[in-house]
Amino acid sequence: MRIDVFSIFPGLVDGFASDGLLGRARERGLVDLRLHDPREHATDVHRSVDDAPFGGGAGMVMRPEPIFACVEAVSPPRPLLLLSAAGRRFDQATAAELAAGEGFSLLCGRYEGVDQRVAEHLCDGELSIGDYVLNGGEAAALVVIEAVTRLVPGVMGNAESGAQESFGHGGDGDGDVLLEHPQYTRPASFRGWEVPEVLRSGDHARIARWRRAMALARTRERRPDLLAARGGLTADEQAEADAVLADLHGSSYPPTSPSEQSRES
Ligand code: SAH
Repeated sequence: MRIDVFSIFPGLVDGFASDGLLGRARERGLVDLRLHDPREHATDVHRSVDDAPFGGGAGMVMRPEPIFACVEAVSPPRPLLLLSAAGRRFDQATAAELAAGEGFSLLCGRYEGVDQRVAEHLCDGELSIGDYVLNGGEAAALVVIEAVTRLVPGVMGNAESGAQESFGHGGDGDGDVLLEHPQYTRPASFRGWEVPEVLRSGDHARIARWRRAMALARTRERRPDLLAARGGLTADEQAEADAVLADLHGSSYPPTSPSEQSRES
């Protein structure tokens, strides 16, 4: 998969994307990440990429000429998406959509933002990673790149691990949208906190039931909005979640049922 990123701080993106799974995917040729700096296409003596906003106001705005020139010089893979707090909210479904294609490109803003003609006449869309404002699009671009590339076949060592994560089975974006069950590793007892007995039982059917029930209970507790989007829990699922919570005596998992809350107080 080819991913082109346009940024006046290409080193920020390249450095982060050189380690871990992403770095390995690049070395193995699974991800072809190319960085382009619009400043190299600025033609004035100061190589300026920003200018004051028409209409006045604080801060500077990225000029269209160096950005158009930079993008046109490389004909990057489409869609070309502008990172913007005003964009469509990035989520796992969008990650899956991008992962299904051959490649895509990201344009990072800086200063107070980017001349509107870039969004309207050069880019194919705008993406926001959440309702907050960053200094620049680079951190947002990295969020998008990580979420997308871990869905590219071969990028994650264990193909299974992508399939059971939060926000949808297989990352296809239209699976069952649940948060992941809690995870534990050794030691079985740490400072007196025990790993749930079921996970040490070796009974795979029981473990699978426990994980599913914990995912249901946890999603009901923390992200009822995700459940509302799938029409809530079925009566069976409610019962599964309640049963696993009732079984949890002494566990560190936050209690949700009224009886457990009263036990704490
Ligand atoms: N004045 C703008 C913020 C500019 S922040 C506003 O009020 O919306 C500078 C750059 O950071 C933006 O051009 C964009 O590329 C990036 N950025 C900031 N917040 C972002 C977010 N939530 N998602 C994606 N990109 C963001």
